[in-house]
This record gives sequence, structure tokens and C-alpha cells, in this order.
Amino acid sequence: MNPKLFEADVRASIERSHQAADAFRALDDGASLETTVLALDEILRPLNATQGKTQLFAKVHPDASLRETARTLEQELAAWMTELSLDRSLYERVASFESCANDGSAEGRVIEVTLRAFRRSGVDRDEATRTKIKSLKDEIVRIGQDFDKNIIDGTAEFVIENGHRGLAGMPADFIASHPERDDGTVVITTDPQDRMPFMTFCESPELRRDYHRLVMQRAYPENLEVLRKLLAKRHELARLLGFDNWADYITEDKMIGDGASAREFLERVVSLCRERADRDYRELLAEKRRDEPEAEIVYDYERGYLGEKIRKRDYDFDSQAVRPYFPYARVRDGILATSAELYGVEFRRVDDAEVWHPSVECYDVIDDGQRVARFYLDMHAREGKFKHGAMFDMQNGIVGDDLPQACLVCNFPEPKGSDPGLMLRSEVRTYFHEFGHLLHHLFSRQEYVRLAGISCEWDFVEVPSQLYEEWGQDLEILQTFARHYETEEPIPADLFERMLAAEDFGKGLSVLTQMFYALLSLSYYERDPKDIDIERHMVELKQRLLPFPHDEGTCFITSFGHLNGYSAMYYTYMWSLVIAKDLFGRFDGQLMNRSIANEYRERILSQGSVKPASTLVHDFLGRDYDFAAFEKWLNAS
Ligand SMILES: [Zn+2]
Repeated sequence: MNPKLFEADVRASIERSHQAADAFRALDDGASLETTVLALDEILRPLNATQGKTQLFAKVHPDASLRETARTLEQELAAWMTELSLDRSLYERVASFESCANDGSAEGRVIEVTLRAFRRSGVDRDEATRTKIKSLKDEIVRIGQDFDKNIIDGTAEFVIENGHRGLAGMPADFIASHPERDDGTVVITTDPQDRMPFMTFCESPELRRDYHRLVMQRAYPENLEVLRKLLAKRHELARLLGFDNWADYITEDKMIGDGASAREFLERVVSLCRERADRDYRELLAEKRRDEPEAEIVYDYERGYLGEKIRKRDYDFDSQAVRPYFPYARVRDGILATSAELYGVEFRRVDDAEVWHPSVECYDVIDDGQRVARFYLDMHAREGKFKHGAMFDMQNGIVGDDLPQACLVCNFPEPKGSDPGLMLRSEVRTYFHEFGHLLHHLFSRQEYVRLAGISCEWDFVEVPSQLYEEWGQDLEILQTFARHYETEEPIPADLFERMLAAEDFGKGLSVLTQMFYALLSLSYYERDPKDIDIERHMVELKQRLLPFPHDEGTCFITSFGHLNGYSAMYYTYMWSLVIAKDLFGRFDGQLMNRSIANEYRERILSQGSVKPASTLVHDFLGRDYDFAAFEKWLNAS
């Protein structure tokens, strides 16, 4: 794609949005609720096809100049959205329908959420304040982009001087894909594809330690200053909008409601998992003492490696043993087939669709003979591409008009020649997770852009994804596609059982680690940042929560991208997991029951934000959600 054409296309959509705003302002005073809401939505309509695409291309497009263009356009789009959110004349017209908010209709809901968004953006403040808000928001977008970019640019190479001897313990395909260079050294990068296997299998503790330090120094120190600025600007904005701090501001329109409730939730989970985490740590230490009887401490860089040894010996499970059952293409086809069967739809490959890279695939979703959605799979790593897994929406589904479109972005092994691209179990889980997001977006269909797509409360967003992970750990489902790449034998039941049991090991520590991230993200944003030394605060919190000592010279916050994207809301993963565990109970072990699945699709996935998420959950469960299933899962062993 030509960057100039793309730029022109996005700019034209912003222009059409401007025109729609003018048309809205010119509405007759007597315009009805329906006319008003429709005209209001027309302002967002032109952006429906370009906003998501711009975000996607900024992160994944193979052409660096187009990525750069997309980042500039992201700023322009954000600036226009901010301008709209501060537009007094728009606000006043919407406010004149305030009595219709909450009347149970989609139009009433549009009024309700629009008014709330307007007020949260400070539209009702004086002009000087609104000008200040606008400039703060623009600055925050730019600072956030710098933070993200420094992380991507912070990818570093780690040189292993003794070549393949330094890779002792590593899987054969890892060694094969990391050949020795002419000088006898081997290079690995800090990217997740190298990081996970190296921290799990490399036998040399010194190499793991040095490598881990390098990983934990990405974007260090440059992102410290960027982060300080980001925290300061967000705090200033929250104060200007009448909140004590950013955490209270950002959680106000989420399920959780305020910063204090988020803290209370996280501390509750900490106390629920503490005992189990202590037990996990003692097991890691005992494992270490087999080699070093005097050892008193387990370090971060030993965690993955010792855990793998415990799983191997105590659970007789070798994580390498399942990889032959997970060649990339089979996993992809299996997830597509499972989803198609579950919801009674068809995924049809579109070979002639325009894609941005030859490895990207396009599929149409066919439901009842109709094409109802389109999605893209951009699943393999390449230079300059976003390093994690994520679903990017490209267009929201509007009834009778725009088809929902989205793209999954991952960095999974790529089949090449005789290499089938064997996936790790954790990658298969991620595939299900991201596909859960995808189905949420593709099944969402609403009359108004404002309520369409994944527009629900942000702390509900990880529910469909974490729920769908359950389908990836069901033996019957796995056996339909997880077949040995050479022998075609389905994954054996006993290997599967040992895998599940082994995966259970370390659950306490992994939940506790999540709570460390979540409390860190919350605590940076729940006070005036000038009162905190961000580095020291991270160390102190880590010492309070986790048994692993801090390694001086490492600073993981500089590459903790969620501190920008999620700000104070890392808690959302665990919060969503509580709800996902509860929803899963409704399937009552019948994972392929199409009628329950379609009820879930109907009552939750398709609903966008036409009702609050807690109401959607109630509609599906027939009661409010609770903690019981989550606690049961946490304590099960
Ligand atoms: Zn997710």
C-alpha cells in the first residue's frame, strides 16, 4: 500500500467526520431523539473504517514509512476525537435529551454513554480549562507513543561467546534456528520468541542471569523520564477534571468504579493466593538445593528453569514433548474448526484479498449463507512488527451496513519448508485467547457505532478471551486437531493429563506476580507522581509481594508497555478472569453445546455496550456474577 494513498484516505475520513459534525450542529431544534442520535452517530461513521486500521498499521505494517505515517495519523485522529469530546455545541444538544438516557432503548443508551463521556472529558468546564485539557491529551498521546516506541527500539542482542555450547539444554529447533556465526558466537534477541525458551531451558545460570538483566534493561534509562512525564501529565489531567488522581478517573466508567475498589480487589486476590505462592516458592528452592544444598534464595532468572525441572520430574511432563502435536497450521485449522462448529458458522479463506504482507491470511465468516464478518491473521514475527499477541479491530459491525472486521496479530512459529512451525503449549493457549477477542468483535453487531464492537467496559474486555482459553484445554477438543506432525497420532490422553497437572504447578506464584504488576500499575496512578521515586517504589512493592529479590541494575518498568496502554488498569485481567470462570460454569462441561454457545453469543458477544457488562452477564447467567468459581479454581490442585 502506498503511504500517500493511505494518508489521503484517513484524512478524507476525518474531513467527512467534520462535515457530519457540522450537519449535527445544523439540526432543527425540534429534531427527534432518533434523528439526533443518528446524526450524532454519523460523526463517528466515517472513522469506522479507518481508525482501527490506522492503529493496526502503526504497529504491524512492514513498510517503516507507512508505520510512521500511521503514527502521525493516530495523533490526528486522537486530536479530532478530543476536539469532539470538548465541543460545547454538540454537548448541549445531546444534553437536551438527558431525560431519555437510560430509557431502555439503544438511543437512550447512546445518550447516556455519550453524556458520560462528554462530562468525563471536561466539556462543561470554562474555555481556558478546555484548552488546557486538549493540550494535555495531545501531549499524553505523544508521550505514550514515545514510551511504546522506545520499548520496540529497545530490543537488544545477547551474544553467547561460547556458541552452541552456551545453548546446552535448548530444544533442537531453537539451536538450528540460531546458527553459530563465523567467530563462533551465537546471537539471541530479547524478543519473547527467544526469551521464553531461553529462560526455560538454558542450562547455564550465568547466561540466564546476564540475559535476564539485558531483557530487564530494555528502554532503560530513557523510558524512566518518559514514564515520569506520562504519570505527571495524566495526574494533572485527572485533577483538572475534578478527580483526586488518575486511577479514580480512569476506573470511574469501568465495572470496578474507583481506584479504592480496584485496590481492595487486588489485595483480596493477594491474600487468596499468598499461601499457595509460598508453597510454590518452597518447591522452587528445594529444587535448587538439589544442586546447591546451601542455597537460600531463588532469583527471577531461575524461576522458569527450575519450574520446568519440577514439572519434568514430579509431573513427568516435558513441555517439549507436546510441541510435535502443535504444528502451526493444524492449530490454526483446529481453532477455526472448533469455533465454526461451536457457533454454527463457516470460515472461508479469501485468497485474493488485499493484504499488507504475504504471510497474512484473510477469512470471511459465513453465517446462514450470508457473509457476516471478515478477519485477517497476521501470525508470524518479522522485523519492526508488534512483539506481542493482540486483536486489532478494523471496523465495527453496524446492523445492515458495515461488516465487522478485525485482525489477529501474533508472533508464532512459521512453517517453512520442512519445518512445521511447532508451537509451545503457551502459544496454543494464546491463540485461543486472541481468538476469543476476535469472536467478541466479529459477533458484535449494533445499530450505532457508539455501542458497537468491543465498546463494553474495559475491565470486561478480557472475559471472552480468557473464557475461550478453556476450549484450548479440553482433551476431546484438542484431540480433534493436535496430532503429531509426523505420525498423525492425536495427543495422547495421559500426556494431556500430565500437562494439565504440571501446568497447575506454580499457579500461586503466577497469580501473585500478576498482582504485583496490577498493584504497581495502580499505585503509580493513585497519587501525585511527584511524591514517588518510581524505581524505588517498584523495588519496595516487589519486596512486599514477591519472594524473589530485586536484581540491582534491572528495571522492568521501562519496558512494561501496559503502563501506557492500560495505565492504572492492569487489574482488568484478573477481574475479567473472575467473571470468565463464573461464565464457564454455565457451560457445565458441555463445551461444544451450540445452544449454550449461541446464547452466550446472543446475550453477551453480540451486545457491544448496549447494556452495562454486569447486566449482560446477568442476562446470560440468570444471576449476578460472583467469586465462587474463581476461588475454587485458585485453590484447586
Ligand atoms: Zn487479551
